[in-house]
Amino acid sequence: MDFAWTQEQQELSHSLRTIAQAISHDDQRQAQGDFWTRAQWRRCAEAGLLGLCVSQAYGGGGYDALTTALALEAFGFGCEDTGLVFSAAAHLLACTMPIVEAGSDSLKESFLPGLCAGRFVGGNAITEDDAGSDVFALHTRAVREGDEYVLDGCKSYVSNGPVADVFVVYARTNPAHGYLGISAFVVERTTPGLILGEPFTKMGLTSTPACRVSFEGCRVPASHRLGKEGQGASLFKRSMLWERACLFALYLGVMERQLERTIHYARERRQFGKPIGRNQAVAHRVADMKLRLEMSRLLLYRSCWLFGRGEPATLEIALSKLAVSSAAVQGGLDALHIHGARGIDCDYGIERMLRDAIPGTLFSGTAEMQRDIIANELGL
Ligand SMILES: Cc1cc2nc3c(=O)[nH]c(=O)nc-3n(C[C@H](O)[C@H](O)[C@H](O)COP(=O)(O)OP(=O)(O)OC[C@H]3O[C@@H](n4cnc5c(N)ncnc54)[C@H](O)[C@@H]3O)c2cc1C
Repeated sequence: MDFAWTQEQQELSHSLRTIAQAISHDDQRQAQGDFWTRAQWRRCAEAGLLGLCVSQAYGGGGYDALTTALALEAFGFGCEDTGLVFSAAAHLLACTMPIVEAGSDSLKESFLPGLCAGRFVGGNAITEDDAGSDVFALHTRAVREGDEYVLDGCKSYVSNGPVADVFVVYARTNPAHGYLGISAFVVERTTPGLILGEPFTKMGLTSTPACRVSFEGCRVPASHRLGKEGQGASLFKRSMLWERACLFALYLGVMERQLERTIHYARERRQFGKPIGRNQAVAHRVADMKLRLEMSRLLLYRSCWLFGRGEPATLEIALSKLAVSSAAVQGGLDALHIHGARGIDCDYGIERMLRDAIPGTLFSGTAEMQRDIIANELGL
């Protein structure tokens, strides 16, 4: 196996780290706890983040899954605002990519250039109050009337929802057909009958705005359906493969930044007349952080490499998602512990990495769902 990055990939990663650092310090943010700004979003677009794996014909970067992951890792490393990177990655992988892979030419032309250029913010809406892990139990209906579908129902926890211009929405077109009775639609925020809820307050990824999105007699042109009627569930599964494989690369970047800061601190902080890192108990904790990061990295790169080659990679992607999301939480706890009281100081940036990591064990399928997939792939 060849583990070497090309010159072009190395340059991309290096430049994105630098750009991400600048974006994260954008002085237009009013205060900690606010959502990211449109100015930051446009700068993500200028850096190419919003269209990494979209064809260059639509303004994207035309990169494969592995290079997309490398770019997201670089952004995760450089940008201290993980919520912004998460928003951009969700926009790309769960809203833009379904349009790339299943949209008609006209849908692609209408939406992809704006999504890549940052004129639009994208969201994806599938989860409902009674359909979380059991996602295909969704109740939202889409009833065909002539050249339109009429959507009724309510989606919860839609990331980017409060500011999104374009949603990929999953609804039931045929209740009798279960998994095969779900279809996907591109719905614009301005469509009458689409109602946005108030933004949630979250413990982590706080700069990512999220809300409920309701549909009340919301008429969507039939031409806005993605793929054929009944293909929605398989399109969603595909978008989750993109997300589980590539999005979690941003946490590799976070873990690397966390490790750098922790090593620096363990060398600088002195107690009992010596650096705390000279204590084996501290040093071993750092060694374990490094081990989990590198194991996660290899699993993730392998998943993206296989996925990019068109292989199913279901097992590999579930293993990688589970490993990265768990390692990010454990790394967050370790870093916090080694920083002592500074670890919980909200101005110091260490506790934030832990808060941002915890949701990663929930979205894109919880840790239990990944273990179910792995067990299923192993024939259990
Ligand atoms: C930060 C964040 C962003 C999100 N963004 C979006 C978005 O943009 N769009 C969207 O549609 N949704 C989004 N979601 C929702 C997300 O997809 C769901 O939270 C997730 O699928 C889990 O569903 P739930 O929260 O209802 O938990 P539940 O499914 O109710 O699960 C609760 C607990 O029970 C466990 N559990 C459930 N069933 C089983 C089982 N069979 N075996 C073992 N354990 C089980 C789960 O693993 C979990 O620990 C987001 C969530 C988060 C946290």
